[in-house]
Amino acid sequence: MNSLSSVKIIDGKAAAARVLREVRIEVEQLMRVGIQPGLAVVLVGSDPASQVYVRNKVLRAEETGIRSIEHKLPADTGEAALLELIERLNADPAVNGILVQLPLPNHIDEHRVLQAIDPLKDVDGFHAENVGGLSQGREVLTPCTPAGCMRLLQDSCGELAGKHAVVIGRSNIVGKPMAALLLKAHCTVTVVHSRSSNLRELCRQADILVAAVGKPRLVDASWLKPGAVVIDVGINRIEEDGKSRLVGDVDFDSALSQVSAITPVPGGVGPMTIAYLMQNTVTAARLQRPALLSHSTFAEASCPSIS
Ligand code: NAD
Repeated sequence: MNSLSSVKIIDGKAAAARVLREVRIEVEQLMRVGIQPGLAVVLVGSDPASQVYVRNKVLRAEETGIRSIEHKLPADTGEAALLELIERLNADPAVNGILVQLPLPNHIDEHRVLQAIDPLKDVDGFHAENVGGLSQGREVLTPCTPAGCMRLLQDSCGELAGKHAVVIGRSNIVGKPMAALLLKAHCTVTVVHSRSSNLRELCRQADILVAAVGKPRLVDASWLKPGAVVIDVGINRIEEDGKSRLVGDVDFDSALSQVSAITPVPGGVGPMTIAYLMQNTVTAARLQRPALLSHSTFAEASCPSIS
């Protein structure tokens, strides 16, 4: 049992503001050598949630000095037309990052579209070249949410090497790249998912628990090792006491009795995702001009050798 006053609530808004300040400084450095990083955001259709995400991305880009270029296409846009746009963006030297807002309408093959993006402009880190590079421990563009989680962990836990990290969820967007980044930072990593048995017992062994499931308050205190650090990626909208509210995959109030540090929902991982999209755009601009690469170009833990 914890003394609640000793629990660190990891402030994702403040951490994201720090990342965005760093990005702003990097943008200023690039502008001194005549480069203004450019981010193209492609939205197909008018899904209201996607429209909000795109608006927020464009706003954050403007705040950091990144030039954002929005491409809003009607819902009935064909796959060929979308691929043609991506080809043009790949060839445009003013565009350093390309983000295609997901999900795409059903008639478009998401995989084919993501594979069409130049891996050096793939600021979401979803291209197979970048996915493979990450699993080889190479420095590549990395999915934004896991990259943001790593920064929160590094800021709140210090040394990660040797810690046992359990990731709940194995999606391509969060769970798998999260596991790869933790491995790269020399953690011992267990990935659990919907078909795992002994889920609670496995989670109870975690020094670091990352929940990326999409099930409101799945994890309570009985799943947690005393002193664990919990990163709650889940964003779930529920109706409670007649109100609509957002909650994570972790029962925050219950977890407080066990954890040493935890991210809240909202205000934890969420703001870091957009901040790392901006970081990736700057990293992409540098990657496209190797002379501008520096030791600090890559956001994730720097781990020169993995064995
Ligand atoms: P997903 O649906 O693609 O994957 C969910 C994973 O959870 C799957 O691998 C599945 O095996 C596992 N799972 C499902 N039920 C389970 C159970 N009962 N026990 C154990 N594992 C179970 O989802 P995703 O895209 O990885 O997103 C996960 C959550 O994170 C969602 O709530 C999503 O909204 C949120 N999310 C947040 C951000 C952010 O910026 N904070 C970004 C991406 C996703």
